[in-house]
Amino acid sequence: MKELLLCKYGELILKGSNRRFFEDTLCKTLRFRAKHYGSFEVNRSQSTITIEPKDENCDLDGMFEATSKVFGISAISRSAVCEKTMESIEETVREYLPQFLAGKKTFKVACKRSDKTFPLDSIELAGEVGGIILSMMPHLKVDVHNPEIVVQVEIREFNAFVHAGQFKGAGGMPIGTNGKALLLLSGGIDSPVAGYMIAKRGVQLEAVHFESFPYTSELAREKVVRLARIMAAYTGSFNLHIVSLTHIQEELVKNCEEDYFTLLLRRYMMAIADKIAHATECGGIVTGESLGQVASQTMQALGVTDPMSSLPVFRPCIGLDKEEIITVSRKIGTFETSIEPYEDCCTVFTPRHPMTKPKLEKVLAEQARLDFDALVEEALASDKVERIRTEFN
Ligand code: ATP
Ligand code: MG
Repeated sequence: MKELLLCKYGELILKGSNRRFFEDTLCKTLRFRAKHYGSFEVNRSQSTITIEPKDENCDLDGMFEATSKVFGISAISRSAVCEKTMESIEETVREYLPQFLAGKKTFKVACKRSDKTFPLDSIELAGEVGGIILSMMPHLKVDVHNPEIVVQVEIREFNAFVHAGQFKGAGGMPIGTNGKALLLLSGGIDSPVAGYMIAKRGVQLEAVHFESFPYTSELAREKVVRLARIMAAYTGSFNLHIVSLTHIQEELVKNCEEDYFTLLLRRYMMAIADKIAHATECGGIVTGESLGQVASQTMQALGVTDPMSSLPVFRPCIGLDKEEIITVSRKIGTFETSIEPYEDCCTVFTPRHPMTKPKLEKVLAEQARLDFDALVEEALASDKVERIRTEFN
């Protein structure tokens, strides 16, 4: 008996004439990831993708786990595959399903017959399969309204599939189907979540991390690289730019009014990000800001940093509470790393009284004390790019 993965696409189906592009991108991602787990064949037909092991050495559990993080898939199930005959289906039901039904009290059978030449219709087939299950496990009861487990039999183009229990996929859209954006990635909780959320909409990431060595440490940078690797299980591999803000911060401290340090620094960050985004063909910038969370995230403060970018700035966490952001962070596995206590360039030289309602004229006057463009160019010259990969890409 052969087992494989069946993946359903969800929202992709809505994509009219672009659908092929979405499907191709999704299959390409799956083929790429599958390489790490053995020799798999990835095929699609009738809004379903099959991921089929080609030999004994394939790690189906590993591939299942990796597939559950691929955006664009709404549901995954492990499924047995057999011939489209009643004998073969019965044999498969007897051999494959007991492991899923053990310990359950109620079930129902749902059948789908896209091959209309199969002699039984969906209702008749469900009746047959239900009868086989009850003869094997007489303690079970059929409950069509609220079953503990749904057994599914699908009669498709070339084969029949028997499975029980669908798992939720990562949802969203396949990476690369909605352009590319530059994520400002700090070592905190919010920005990895923001990156995950925008990637879920099909956006390929490029990322930039600002450091301020020696005020921030090697370990702080290494933590950000680890965070990026965790994200890459969802986002796929991406480039992480590491840019030094040391000189900018030293100049700000020497020349500008303390209350404006953070805002000015954020204007520099945005201006540098804008240049990197253009150079790497990104169509937008992404940050982890949440309205009102800290002084630099009031509407007025965001208003003085936004104009530094000529691209749209996406803030997927803008309307989320910290608790909600943490929930996502735990789900994607970045939380434990995010809370490791390393300094960030935003936390060195922080003003005692940061401005929450800054006036643009005053910000501009403070900014004019330094050669803004020259400092931006100098920071850009420090850009070092690291390719972020997970174990499977
Ligand atoms: P986070 O948890 O993401 O660090 P935060 O609540 O600490 O967010 P800030 O430090 O004000 O907020 O940063 C707001 C956003 O600015 C971050 O979400 C991130 O997108 C960006 N940012 C902050 N520091 C850095 C940095 N060192 N490098 C790159 N981006 C940064
Ligand atoms: Mg931060």
